[in-house]
Amino acid sequence: MATMHDLEYLRLLQAAVEQSFDAVVITTAELDRPGPEIVYANPAFLSMTGYPLEEILGETPRLLQGEATNRPMLGRLRTALAAGERFSARTVNYRKDGTAYDVEWSISPVRDDAGTVTHFVSVQRDISVETREHERRQMLVYALDASSDSVVITDRDNNILDVNRAFEEHTGYSRDEVRGKNPRMLQSGMHDRSFYQRLWDTLDRGDVFRDTFIDKQKNGQLLHMEETITPVRDEHGELTGYVSVGKDITDRVRTENELKRLATTDMLTGLINRMHFEKILAHEHDRVQRYGHPAALIMIDLDRFKQINDQFGHPCGDAVLTRFARLVSDHIRTTDSFARWGGEEFMLITPDTDEHAATLLADKLRCRVHDTEFPEIGRVTASFGVVALEPDSTPEQSVQVADQRLYLAKQQGRDRVVGPRST
Ligand code: GH3
Ligand code: MG
Ligand code: MG
Repeated sequence: MATMHDLEYLRLLQAAVEQSFDAVVITTAELDRPGPEIVYANPAFLSMTGYPLEEILGETPRLLQGEATNRPMLGRLRTALAAGERFSARTVNYRKDGTAYDVEWSISPVRDDAGTVTHFVSVQRDISVETREHERRQMLVYALDASSDSVVITDRDNNILDVNRAFEEHTGYSRDEVRGKNPRMLQSGMHDRSFYQRLWDTLDRGDVFRDTFIDKQKNGQLLHMEETITPVRDEHGELTGYVSVGKDITDRVRTENELKRLATTDMLTGLINRMHFEKILAHEHDRVQRYGHPAALIMIDLDRFKQINDQFGHPCGDAVLTRFARLVSDHIRTTDSFARWGGEEFMLITPDTDEHAATLLADKLRCRVHDTEFPEIGRVTASFGVVALEPDSTPEQSVQVADQRLYLAKQQGRDRVVGPRST
């Protein structure tokens, strides 16, 4: 600073301190009561505390202290200053109007040429907003972790910034494992490309996307999540990232699937039940009408089943029904639908099969049953009525014709097939 006049230098320093965003206050070095006296305060200090300059000059900074001021800290401050050391801390101070604010400050002793401490210079900053922001953020973190919904926060490139505890529980992944990764890592392969296309079309439009996702947990198990994904923008409308909130509905989906299965299944044999079969039959009739594909219906009734029950008991009869169901199931195609129609009557739909092929299949099944040794009872036979599904008939009419042909098979001596050509 040799080239600069001392006074000039001082003027520049003063301008800098006057403009400073941080509050600056200078006091005498008097530590004993009534305490240090304020000899200078910059505009930032005046606006932070609410005191006009003329009111604060000559006062002690104790003026700013109050109920919530950190007393032990003041003790440490005194010790530091008495030892001629710099000290910094945080505390609560009070404005002229009595309102409190959080302040972070540092205070240094200033010495004269002889080394005697003559003043203290203190630089202070109101951190109330920061403190409140920090507390608010902390509360949000607690709230997110307390939520039973999964939360995933990603940046604009869809890299994961943070997840909450529920996410960790639902997916089995820890925060650290997923941070920086793309949520794509949860994909189960259960959604087609159009699902993701729809997702990104919606988000790119700035809209909220809601749907059920089938994700994959860390252990490979499927996870059904009802998700809401929201694009987040800053105050200038710039995309900053995405927040997705998900409810785990895996249990609900499992229960629904189980209920659906129970509602469509015959409890004894595990076959399709009558109600569900009627739907399949109606659907197959539609296909025949619409596309002209052939299809056939085969009605099956076990012969003299009453006798089996009478001779061996009802539980034995049940076991025969179950074995019979398995026997037939093992000899049909996966595209065929085999159902228990009621009692010891069964129905079989064979798509893409004409009446001739269906009659041959019925006879093959008849032979299989005839030749099979049932451990519970020995031998049992069955009678079959076969009908081709016609484009101009109804499902009810097809059932009626199959039933009539089955009746004929019984009349003709049982253990036989009656199809279109046999009538
Ligand atoms: P047919 O050769 O004329 O068919 O003689 P059937 O004795 O089989 O004929 P019917 O229809 O008169 O009797 C069917 C019997 O099947 C009546 C009933 O005792 C028995 N049955 C029906 N449902 C069940 C069942 O769920 N379990 C058992 N064990 N028996 C059943
Ligand atoms: Mg019978
Ligand atoms: Mg019967």
